[in-house]
Amino acid sequence: MSSTLESIEMLLKKELPGVRQDVLLKDHTTFQIGGPARYFLEVRKKGMLVKALQTAKKLNLPFFILGGGSNLLVSDEGFKGLVVKIESENGIVLKSETVIEAPAGVQMEHLVDFSLQNHLEGLEWSGGLPGTFGGAIRGNAGAFGGEIKDSILEVEALDKDLNLHVLSNAQCQFSYRSSIFKKENWIVVSATLQCKKGHKENLEKIAQSRIDYRIEKQPLDLPNAGSIFKNCDLKWFSSEWQKELAHVVKQDPFPVVPTAYLISEANLKGTRAGGAEVSKKHPNFIVNIDNAKAADVLELIEIIKAKVKEKYGVMLEQEVQYLE
Ligand SMILES: Cc1cc2nc3c(=O)[nH]c(=O)nc-3n(C[C@H](O)[C@H](O)[C@H](O)COP(=O)(O)OP(=O)(O)OC[C@H]3O[C@@H](n4cnc5c(N)ncnc54)[C@H](O)[C@@H]3O)c2cc1C
Repeated sequence: MSSTLESIEMLLKKELPGVRQDVLLKDHTTFQIGGPARYFLEVRKKGMLVKALQTAKKLNLPFFILGGGSNLLVSDEGFKGLVVKIESENGIVLKSETVIEAPAGVQMEHLVDFSLQNHLEGLEWSGGLPGTFGGAIRGNAGAFGGEIKDSILEVEALDKDLNLHVLSNAQCQFSYRSSIFKKENWIVVSATLQCKKGHKENLEKIAQSRIDYRIEKQPLDLPNAGSIFKNCDLKWFSSEWQKELAHVVKQDPFPVVPTAYLISEANLKGTRAGGAEVSKKHPNFIVNIDNAKAADVLELIEIIKAKVKEKYGVMLEQEVQYLE
């Protein structure tokens, strides 16, 4: 080991006693794919998060923020820096009758449960959405016509220089699967949600129906990372295709053509590369059927992009984040 690497390791261990080495990221992603993180730290408190990032900066060490790993493809070589996994088992509080505050690291599942227990409307669309609150805010997660931005009141976040900001909903620059946090690489620390008083049983029914829909339509029995591509804006298509595709267009959150439909029509369902397969159940999902490598998934992504471009003339945009 070089002496520089040795001194980085000594300093890291001194500053961040919980830091571990060579942690396989496949064990921290829903895809179950990915090589090792050279350094890996789980943080539960804001102070620890800031300290970890300050230390990485001081040592000139690249860092990566990990939430639930449900929107992530990690390269087979892993990440040669510090992965900081934000996770919080608790910390969700009712700030007022209709305002919830929660740290970035809580699982969306727990946040939805909390809102339902408190008869609050606003998150029921996200029943069954994997991942953390912070990950959902960064990617403005959405489904069934709802998006996390619809309920966000304020977000506490760190900018690239680790200055803490409190942003209003408008300042978050939310758009389809995006936000200032994604565009500028800011780190979500916590946020508040403005909900409405609702009827607990009705809200529970809606949330459960979303979970049931996912079980029915998505290949949840196999490791995956959700939708690989964003849905396609109807405006991207030629007027001929717009007419032809009118019967599949859905409003989510604006007129889109479901990418799953395009992949299916390009006859790609069941296409394999190594241990990865284009799901037969939901073609916008790639599933890890047999110890897939990231390289297998990347190969399928390229095949899908090329075939869809050839048939429909549109270039698919990736939703899944790639870490290398
Ligand atoms: C079965 C399945 C179904 C899915 N369904 C949907 C769906 O309906 N709608 C939808 O939108 N998504 C869906 N997803 C994708 C995924 O669940 C969401 O994108 C989720 O919000 C990602 O959160 P995460 O904590 O897992 O993020 P991760 O996968 O850990 O990280 C994703 C990105 O967010 C960054 N990040 C994580 N936490 C923070 C933070 N605190 N601050 C700043 N950046 C952060 C990471 O650096 C990374 O770039 C699905 C995924 C799966 C596996």
